[in-house]
Amino acid sequence: MAHEQRQAAHARWLSAAQLIGVVRAEPGITRAAAAQRLGIGSGGATELLARMRQARLLDESPAPARGRGRPTTVLGPHADGPLVLAADLRATDWRLAVAGIDGLPQVVAQSAYAGEELAPVLAEVAEAISTVYRRNTRRLRAIAVSVAGTVSDAKLVQFTSRGWRDADLSVLVAKIPDRAGISLQLGNDATLAGLAEARSGAARAATTALYLIVAQGIGGTLVVNGDTLTGAHGAAGEYGHIPFGDPNLFCPCGARGCWDLAVDGRALARHRGDEPPDDPVAYVHSLIGKRDSTTRRAFAAIATSLGRGAGALVNLHDPDVVTLGGVAAMIRAAAPDAFDEAYRGGLMAFRKGSPPPVCDAQHGEEGPLHGAVALALDRVTTATGLAEWVGRQ
Ligand SMILES: [Zn+2]
Repeated sequence: MAHEQRQAAHARWLSAAQLIGVVRAEPGITRAAAAQRLGIGSGGATELLARMRQARLLDESPAPARGRGRPTTVLGPHADGPLVLAADLRATDWRLAVAGIDGLPQVVAQSAYAGEELAPVLAEVAEAISTVYRRNTRRLRAIAVSVAGTVSDAKLVQFTSRGWRDADLSVLVAKIPDRAGISLQLGNDATLAGLAEARSGAARAATTALYLIVAQGIGGTLVVNGDTLTGAHGAAGEYGHIPFGDPNLFCPCGARGCWDLAVDGRALARHRGDEPPDDPVAYVHSLIGKRDSTTRRAFAAIATSLGRGAGALVNLHDPDVVTLGGVAAMIRAAAPDAFDEAYRGGLMAFRKGSPPPVCDAQHGEEGPLHGAVALALDRVTTATGLAEWVGRQ
């Protein structure tokens, strides 16, 4: 397409992209409310929706009658509209989910990792992705993959729970023909969970939102105006490898003094005098509610490290809100005074009067999957993405 044609197509679908933005932000919104958000009259809304129905983007269903107002409709994805695929490579299993432009994922495949080796696992996931593609050849437009490890560009740097490292993840879409024009994006699970909180969770009203998650180690992301700061290669947000920990401890990442080693189940075990647990998350769960003094002191120690680090990051990033995911919320709840004292103690004086609230995350274990769906949909629902969709019909 020539440059002028692309520009014209972009302009033509700009209002459609804005309307989809409203539907994504407020699922189940009525036509009347959506028109109001965009500042268009009912005639303009009728015309826009007719065009979007024709393009198989949005559809309407009758809204439940309310009072004596004029009847309106609820906006939702077209039954034959664009789809995205989200893959979630978790610590011990993987799953695939498909979503329409309302962003509600439906899990379509799921399995524990077949073995210790990475290559057969990637082949298995690639085959499952290819199956979803063949079933939805015309509709599938973007794929995003959440990885419980460090990613840089299309490369898996390390996947700690399985000991995997240095693998090219573009093999996941090797069975999808290039001409299909389907984009692949990769993201770290903590980054994507933070994106989900900022878009539709505990940080949804924030302009600048800091998200921290404790699982095996600690990760997180900073979301600014709805986008995560991912760095030059998509590898930013390695909060666990800031030296907020004990400088005498060596981290598997190659650095020492990492925060990872001070805030999770492994740290809790060290403070209690236990062996390092195989599953640090399950270990934290198993000790919640134990009131003996050793356990309470151990929780206070890791909650202190969590609070102090959160305060330092608030000094650095100046967020509106901090959200806690994974077992971070549990760790704070197990030793709230220790957390609070360390958090406030770490803040610069001028912030202490009204520090940003620290809220529990709302997406829970679904955060990475919901974030991957949001990332993939971002590609599809821009004016340019919509023009491409229409061009392929
Ligand atoms: Zn490290």
